[in-house]
Amino acid sequence: MPADTIEILEGDEEGIERRNGWGPLEIQRGTDGRVQGVVFRRCLRVYDEQRRFAPIFDDSALETIPCDTVLLAVGQAPDLSFLDPGGEDVEMARPGWPKVNRATLATTASGVFVAGDLAHGTRLLIDAVASGKAAARSVFEHITGRRICSEIVETHRVLERYQRERGYESLGRVPLPVLPPEMRLKAPDAVVELGYTEEGAVREASRCLDCGVSPVFDGARCVLCGGCADVCPTQCLKLVPLDWLAGGQDFGFAVQGFTGSGAELSEDSAIVKDEQRCIRCALCAIRCPADAITMERVEFQTNWRSA
Ligand code: SF4
Ligand code: SF4
Repeated sequence: MPADTIEILEGDEEGIERRNGWGPLEIQRGTDGRVQGVVFRRCLRVYDEQRRFAPIFDDSALETIPCDTVLLAVGQAPDLSFLDPGGEDVEMARPGWPKVNRATLATTASGVFVAGDLAHGTRLLIDAVASGKAAARSVFEHITGRRICSEIVETHRVLERYQRERGYESLGRVPLPVLPPEMRLKAPDAVVELGYTEEGAVREASRCLDCGVSPVFDGARCVLCGGCADVCPTQCLKLVPLDWLAGGQDFGFAVQGFTGSGAELSEDSAIVKDEQRCIRCALCAIRCPADAITMERVEFQTNWRSA
């Protein structure tokens, strides 16, 4: 079922029974017009291969649930009614979803581009913003005949004596205060998430990874003492023999470029880092006896120009 984990947990707390894998087919009414039940059909698939919302149902597997109230969830489908009349040249890939060129976000109608859900299916808001910008570049090219090119400039700024709050590496998430389930059931329109206190908000904000900051290792200074790996709270650093890496497709050329040909790989070591587990705590940089690790703020700037 496409729902956030927190929605499922809160539903469980309120005693809501979930029936996964079914989609509504028909609302049944009595002769007096009142709702009597909903007919569901078995859902075989929710998303297509491109992660677009495209459910497929089995019409031979039906189940009717008696009820007197139906709550409709909204917001799943784009509204293309503005294309009528006159939008026949916007061909549809399937009902309600135009054919879209993935590279340019152009539809089949000249000069008509799409962004957001129409461009890529249901995704995050930030994806919609990115596709809006991509569509704007395509519109510019369509109107002027000139392309917009980008160049990414990466800068590193060394942060001297960088360190995080005391105990940062073991700070747990501050649970968001919510209305108790029994109160939610008594007052369905009450606000469920009550928000943090000032103290809770400050503490939760202090867990921010500040992921623009990264430990950067200087291989020329490192004496391979292993101190950084010992102190790392997430165990994302590991000292390994260099020949472990040299044999791999990804690192072979890099190792050769660093050591030169003819080096005795089995006698040397390297530090490997699992970037996804690094919490930017700086403990490795503080521990390093050879000043081989600097905490650096890495920034990317995209410069645009029309060609
Ligand atoms: S910054 Fe912290 S988590 Fe990241 S490698 Fe260093 S010690 Fe490990
Ligand atoms: S603590 Fe410094 S010198 Fe020791 S292994 Fe890590 S980077 Fe190298």
